[in-house]
Amino acid sequence: MAELPKHLSPSSASAFDGCPRRWKFKYVDRLPEPSGQAAVVGTFAHTVLEHLCGLPTHLRTQDQAKALARQLWPDMEADEDYQALELDDEAARAFRWQSWLAIAGLWDLEDPATVEVVETEQKVKAQLDDVPFLGIIDRVDRIEGKLVVSDYKSGTLPGVRFRDDKIQQVMLYAAALDAQGDEQPERARLLYLGQRILDVIVTDRRLEEARGQLAGTWSGVTSACESDEFEAKPGVLCGWCPFVNQCPEGLGELVRRQAAGKLPSHAPAAALVA
Ligand code: SF4
Repeated sequence: MAELPKHLSPSSASAFDGCPRRWKFKYVDRLPEPSGQAAVVGTFAHTVLEHLCGLPTHLRTQDQAKALARQLWPDMEADEDYQALELDDEAARAFRWQSWLAIAGLWDLEDPATVEVVETEQKVKAQLDDVPFLGIIDRVDRIEGKLVVSDYKSGTLPGVRFRDDKIQQVMLYAAALDAQGDEQPERARLLYLGQRILDVIVTDRRLEEARGQLAGTWSGVTSACESDEFEAKPGVLCGWCPFVNQCPEGLGELVRRQAAGKLPSHAPAAALVA
């Protein structure tokens, strides 16, 4: 029997829904999961924007963001995820440029000097339909007098049919604030840096759906931990799974996709079956 986690976060719930076996490798076995470059760029951009939005409004300029990036860079360079990328000088320059594009991408969406930021990196902890939930909200804003939950995304805006999962994640933050007894947010936003804002009205029905889906995931997590059986859900994402070497179903999926010409050559695990 595997130990039940103390809580679910939006990302751990989404990971379990995607593939329970991968979830087990990460959250039960705690196997190391190296962050790819895109994830580390996202972490750095988030950190700079967090500091920027903690400043008084008149200081939230691109020049100030550049100064913050320079100030925070030594910590990034010393970070083990960054070190693990093993970048040479040219690749490190490309990393910094990608980071800056993500940071400056906030101005493509809004002028942060005009935003009333209530809180950054707000921790929320609540029971949602009896599920222990824990999350950290990138930003809580007040826009036109109403509370708004905002989450930065440095990756590519997903296609329409893949957006529900992302919206569900930010809706859980709104549900957690509500459950904590705070003011219920009126909107939840996903800020796809440099691209566009996905802005969703928070309604009682959406909150109920988000809580219901989380409860379904928690039930699946509980059953899997009790039985110690974690279903493998092979699919195209096996090509990006850092645990594919420990997963016979995933390796089989790679072989099948390779034979059918359906394994993207840029998938990190493609080399295993080339
Ligand atoms: S390789 Fe595929 S099936 Fe196996 S754990 Fe990873 S995502 Fe799941």
